[in-house]
Amino acid sequence: MLLLDPYEVRRDFPIFARKVHGKQLIYFDNAATSQRPVQVIEAVDSFYRSLNANIGRSVHELALAATEAYEAARKVVAAFIGAKPDELVFTKNTTESINLAAYSLLASGLVRSGNEILVTRMEHHSNLLPWVRVARLAGAKLKVVEVTDDGRLDLDDFRRKLTDKVRVLAVTHVSNVTGVVNPVKELCEEARSRGALCLVDGAQSVPHMRVDVSRIKPDFLAFSGHKMLGPMGIGGLYIKRELAEKLEPPFPGGGAISLVECGVEECRAEWLQAPHKFEAGTPNVAGAVGLSAAVEYLERIGMESIEAHERRLTEKALGILQELGVTVYGPLDVKDRVGVVSFNVGKLTPHEVAQLLDSEGIAVRSGHHCALPLVKRLGTPLGTVRASFYLYNTLEELDVFEEALRKILVIAS
Ligand code: PMP
Repeated sequence: MLLLDPYEVRRDFPIFARKVHGKQLIYFDNAATSQRPVQVIEAVDSFYRSLNANIGRSVHELALAATEAYEAARKVVAAFIGAKPDELVFTKNTTESINLAAYSLLASGLVRSGNEILVTRMEHHSNLLPWVRVARLAGAKLKVVEVTDDGRLDLDDFRRKLTDKVRVLAVTHVSNVTGVVNPVKELCEEARSRGALCLVDGAQSVPHMRVDVSRIKPDFLAFSGHKMLGPMGIGGLYIKRELAEKLEPPFPGGGAISLVECGVEECRAEWLQAPHKFEAGTPNVAGAVGLSAAVEYLERIGMESIEAHERRLTEKALGILQELGVTVYGPLDVKDRVGVVSFNVGKLTPHEVAQLLDSEGIAVRSGHHCALPLVKRLGTPLGTVRASFYLYNTLEELDVFEEALRKILVIAS
């Protein structure tokens, strides 16, 4: 495994030329969205300059070239997660991917009255609210697996709640609040052995570690392009092929059908094969092309190198926070977590701390991180300050972070 040089990586990211409050930007808000390298910006720019046409419809040269670029992007992104091209549906983001999965199961009658849907207390609202809605519409029951005091999944509670009535387990791979990594391969295996389907929310894992569906074997895997160097407005939903064949597309429309017939009183449609039946309407072609460039960029650096680099950053960040006596949420052992650290400083609110850090040029997120049930369980209803890292962050930036926190601690005392 090659050691990643973040200083070399940074040269590809034009945003780092920018100053914030007259200071060098330190971007520690990667769990919200990443920055983009020139390779991605240029891929999107070049699509609109020289390839732009709608896809899958017209037969002129430009339309065929655009269709080819879109399908080539699908191949690259699918291979990145260990999937076949026809198992990858392009969506807008993780939220849309999870809604697509949930409503497909509802539309296909695979979640019905009397069934149970299992989620966990550490889910992002995007992997909770679609299931709340679908459970209500189906007449199914939603059950929540608890977490331990340090924010890990309570595996005993998981096993207690995984009854034969559970039809779907929806679980995050990595918590966007604590950085905790869940044993999703084992969780999916146990769900499968009880006859349940398994959706993995990969929003915080796919950008940061090697995620391979042929190893984890989920039925669905959702992720967002904008958190992994890609453009905003493009994401993915992996659907296992045998399942995709059975699923009714919940959002029907143009581009998803092989036939539509209307009699006097009724119309009917026959769907295209997956993934096209799930992609009705004009998709984000430039976004897919940009995401493919992002994946090529990540692959060139190596996911193993990226994960190891983030682990070094996380270890140092946790060390700084503990030395300063700041309250840290989640496990303190770096082997169980990725590059997300959540903390609070004395009596200051998370937003106050984030504003003080911003005045030093350091961008972090503060608040509930769209995971209210978890932050309440962690005993911090106003949420936390969250620093999250990526391949272009440096150990030196953490020295600046430490200095800034020392100043903030004086204010807090
Ligand atoms: N799940 C997790 C774990 C997340 O961290 C996020 C984004 N913060 C989402 C889902 C939703 O992602 P998006 O906003 O890209 O749909």
